[in-house]
Amino acid sequence: MPKKDLADTNTFTRKPRSGWEMLKGKEPRVEAYCREYLSFLSEVKTEREAVSYLVERAARAKGLHMVGNRGKAVAFCRPGKAALSEGVRIVVAHLDSPRLDLKANPVYEDTELVMLKTHYYGGIRKYQWLARPLALHGVVVKEDGSIIRIVLGEDENEPCFTIEDLLPHLAGKAQYGKKIEDVFQGEKLNLICGSRPDLNAKEDKVKRQILALLNEKYGIVEEDFTSADLEVVPSGKAREIGFDRSLIGAYGQDDRICAWAAFSAVCDAVKPSHATVALLVDKEEIGSEGNTGAKSVFLEEVLWSFSEALKLDVNPSRVLFRSRALSGDVNGALDPEFPEVHEKANAARLGYGICITKFTGSRGKAGSSEAHAEYMGWIRSLLNRSGVPWQTGELGKVDEGGGGTVAKHLAEYGMDIVDAGPALLSMHAPFEISSKVDAYATYLAYRAFMEEA
Ligand SMILES: [Zn+2]
Repeated sequence: MPKKDLADTNTFTRKPRSGWEMLKGKEPRVEAYCREYLSFLSEVKTEREAVSYLVERAARAKGLHMVGNRGKAVAFCRPGKAALSEGVRIVVAHLDSPRLDLKANPVYEDTELVMLKTHYYGGIRKYQWLARPLALHGVVVKEDGSIIRIVLGEDENEPCFTIEDLLPHLAGKAQYGKKIEDVFQGEKLNLICGSRPDLNAKEDKVKRQILALLNEKYGIVEEDFTSADLEVVPSGKAREIGFDRSLIGAYGQDDRICAWAAFSAVCDAVKPSHATVALLVDKEEIGSEGNTGAKSVFLEEVLWSFSEALKLDVNPSRVLFRSRALSGDVNGALDPEFPEVHEKANAARLGYGICITKFTGSRGKAGSSEAHAEYMGWIRSLLNRSGVPWQTGELGKVDEGGGGTVAKHLAEYGMDIVDAGPALLSMHAPFEISSKVDAYATYLAYRAFMEEA
């Protein structure tokens, strides 16, 4: 047997490669992509706003077939070279993000402040929503069916809203020493929205004044809150972070970083080998339920609509069984402040490209659709061939916690699917952190998947 020298053994070990190193010379493309991504994040704070924004943008891209679902989910499809019956390539991502929703009867007055009651949506850390500027986004549907769109609290010339927090001087008995879940309670997440009294009123002086203002500005009355989707989100634009501007800080990067990449990829995909679908769904943060979530039959409807547009007669179930998919969702990046929750060899790192997550779930992979080795092999070969920075990652140490994505709901159709998205720091916080190079690598991966698969 010939003797191996030391240089040869280098090819046996896997060393993660920095995305910055792999994309050296392509910085202008990374920057151009991230400029567009930043403006998407700044403009869009809700699933409805995401759908409107993308539908408008899609009109500029040629050859896309679009299927909408109640203004909260949408799919963009592009025909491929192979017959539709041979299966499609799907990149699925979600448009909803953790937030506070207004209750049906939100308005009340206490201590001559008017507040709006909220019920949180998705996995938030409650204390992160206190004492910061917040904005209100959403729709109110009036009794006559007319829809009032509200976005208030983003422009510096507009008022914003906030939730108050206890001063440290008096927090001793009320907060210090208690468990975090006892200190920060969902029922205390009430939005301050006014304090000027109606001097002619005998009671509810401030509430009356606020309702009069709402009627004047939007033509709504208190009962209209019962037919509204009003979401409280962090106010402000997406920002670059760091002296070197290498990171992006913004609300809603979970999962709009993948949604933007999937949308951009289907717009830019040149003559894909198979028909491709960017499927953007709602309700992932509350378990993918409902008729706009990934558990709904929306994907089948997308294929019916797409095949009709192509004048083809196919059975969506059979097409989906032969399909391949990437579940675009974020992973938790190795945290420099809490490295103990990760297992370093299998944690994703910021700046190392898109993270392929073979399985999610918790307590022994429970709840995961785990991708097969064959599919992992195919993805790995595709990414290596295409020069895409990629890494693998698990969400935390074994038995540390866990989480899930929409992957398992699409896997039910019989398609192969694996989670593929960038890693974030401060995931689910009002200001999540991503790496520019990972955002771009995610786009490159989705595009390679669509074009060359
Ligand atoms: Zn997500």
